[in-house]
Amino acid sequence: MEIAIIAHDGKKADMVQFINKNKAILQKENIKLIATGTTGGKVEAVGIKVKKMLSGPQGGDAQIAARVAEGKTKMVLFFKDPNSSHPHEPDINMLIRICDVHNVPLATNEATAQLLLLGLDEIK
Ligand code: PGA
Repeated sequence: MEIAIIAHDGKKADMVQFINKNKAILQKENIKLIATGTTGGKVEAVGIKVKKMLSGPQGGDAQIAARVAEGKTKMVLFFKDPNSSHPHEPDINMLIRICDVHNVPLATNEATAQLLLLGLDEIK
């Protein structure tokens, strides 16, 4: 099962804490992680294997959206910062829309990300 992780700069520290807290789940052998570039670097730094896409502003969110549309990515954990604006807002909105189109679970804050991970066994 492929899970995507994306964190805006203002949420990267929270994301790292979350990843550490959920290491046991995220390192299960049936789970494959992908992430936008800079986020992926931070995930790797805590010793978790992850496939890095381009950085968000360079098209990383769009790459993840494409994988959702293709049926490869089955869950998106998006640590969105509601207090900053982003040059790649259109890509972010596109990713959210594509998740809705394909009924793929999408968390846009940490509390929801936690619930989704705890509910992993329910999603096939
Ligand atoms: P980043 O991209 O992980 O490369 O910082 C995240 C984003 O801004 O969408």
